[in-house]
Amino acid sequence: MPYYVVKDGQRVGPLSDEEFQNRILSGEIGPDTLIWQAGMADWKRYAEHSGLEAPPPPEISPKPTFLTGPTGVCAECGNTFVRDELVSIAGASVCAGCKPLFLQRIREGASLPSAYRYAGFWIRVVAKFVDGMILGAMGLAVQLGIFGTSLGMAPQPGEVNFGPTALSWGLGMVIGVSYAVFFLGKFGATPGKMAVGIKVIRSDGAPITYGRAAGRFFAEYLSLLTIYIGYIMAGFDEEKRALHDHICDTRVVKN
Ligand SMILES: [Zn+2]
Repeated sequence: MPYYVVKDGQRVGPLSDEEFQNRILSGEIGPDTLIWQAGMADWKRYAEHSGLEAPPPPEISPKPTFLTGPTGVCAECGNTFVRDELVSIAGASVCAGCKPLFLQRIREGASLPSAYRYAGFWIRVVAKFVDGMILGAMGLAVQLGIFGTSLGMAPQPGEVNFGPTALSWGLGMVIGVSYAVFFLGKFGATPGKMAVGIKVIRSDGAPITYGRAAGRFFAEYLSLLTIYIGYIMAGFDEEKRALHDHICDTRVVKN
């Protein structure tokens, strides 16, 4: 249906759809250009007619909404937006339209195993050493607190009483499992691991639960009982898994 437009105070037309579109593209017809076609009661501004413009709000807005104030560029599509329309995600500004795609890409990127930096054998030895010192001090404190003496000493020659040694073993295990379950379950890392900046996660990147932390503690005994071969395996595994990581589907990664 042909259009008529007002240009420099003169009626121009009829214009075919194609001519009309061309004049929009060339900028000759702008939002404020008055247009008319059959069926319209009166001339209307092009923006109003085309639906580009929402009906005016009941209260007069003090500021126009079109690209005023500071602007930013969307990291995803590269278009310019008013700052207020951009959201900040992982240090990048993206527009509302790109937000779902951008979030999905981050999620996919984060769950890729190759995105992790696995913690190797030696850094884990250092973490174990720090934890060992803390556990040793805690064990001694508990023994002194309960029994008023250290139980860790081997029985003297001629002594038949192995009780204290078994007791100190049992105490050590209770303290050890509590320590591992609490710190791994709550923070994903024991103080020793925190000290060297590593943590335990699931193979899919999820944090480990209290239950899995407990299971992992006991699975570690297998690494110990295999004369440390279970630990040394971490040095040769491409994802730096020790035996107990294999058993519990865990990974130790750098923060
Ligand atoms: Zn965008």
